[in-house]
Amino acid sequence: MLQTALHFSHTLLKEVVQPGNYVVDATMGNGNDTLLLAELVGKTGKVYAFDVQEQALISTHKRLIDNDLEHRVQLIHDGHQHLDDYLGKDQEIHAAIFNLGYLPQSDKQVITLPETTRKALDSCLNHLVRKGRIIIVSYYGHEGGQEELETVSTYCRTLPQKLFNVLTYQFINQQNQPPILFCIEKK
Ligand code: SAM
Repeated sequence: MLQTALHFSHTLLKEVVQPGNYVVDATMGNGNDTLLLAELVGKTGKVYAFDVQEQALISTHKRLIDNDLEHRVQLIHDGHQHLDDYLGKDQEIHAAIFNLGYLPQSDKQVITLPETTRKALDSCLNHLVRKGRIIIVSYYGHEGGQEELETVSTYCRTLPQKLFNVLTYQFINQQNQPPILFCIEKK
C-alpha cells in the first residue's frame, strides 16, 4: 500500500537521521515526530522541538518521560521563526520536520502562518548539512491553510536546482484535502 504523507515523512527521516545527529521538530504538537526523532538521534544526538502552545510541551514531555527519551530533547516554548536564538550560529542539523496547520483536538485559532513558516525554513536551510532533509507536511483545509500551502509550494519550487533536490508527494484522487508533503534535500 502507498504510504500516507505522514508515514512517508517518517520514512524520509529514518533514511537520513543517524545516532549523534542534531535535528529540529519545528511543530511539536503532541510529540509524534519528536518521539521518532529522539529515538533516531540516539543518546549522543539532540532534538530541538518548538511549539507556541504550552499544552504541546506538557504532553510531549510526558510522552518522552514515558519512553525514557527526555534527555535527548530540548523542548522550546517559542515560535520556530526564532530558531536562530536557540541553535548556535555554526550548529549543523541533519533534518527538520514541519507539520503545518493546527493541532487536532486543540485551539483551531493557533495555526502556523506563511511568513513565520518561511522564516523558519530559511533558518533551517542555513543550518542544514549536505544530504540533510527538511520535510514539510502541509494540512491546508482550514481557514488560512491554502495561503500557507501556496507560500510553501512557491518556496520549494523556486529553490535552486543546483543546490537542492525538492519533491512533493500527494494523493490526487482523495477527498477532504489530505496533507501534501514536500521534502527539500541539500545536494
Ligand atoms: N507534529 C505534531 C504532532 O505530532 O502532534 C502536530 C503539529 S500541529 C499540525 C501544528 C502545531 O504547530 C501546533 O501544535 C501549533 O501549536 C504549532 N505552531 C503554530 N505556530 C507555530 C510556530 N510559529 N512555531 C512553532 N509551532 C507552532
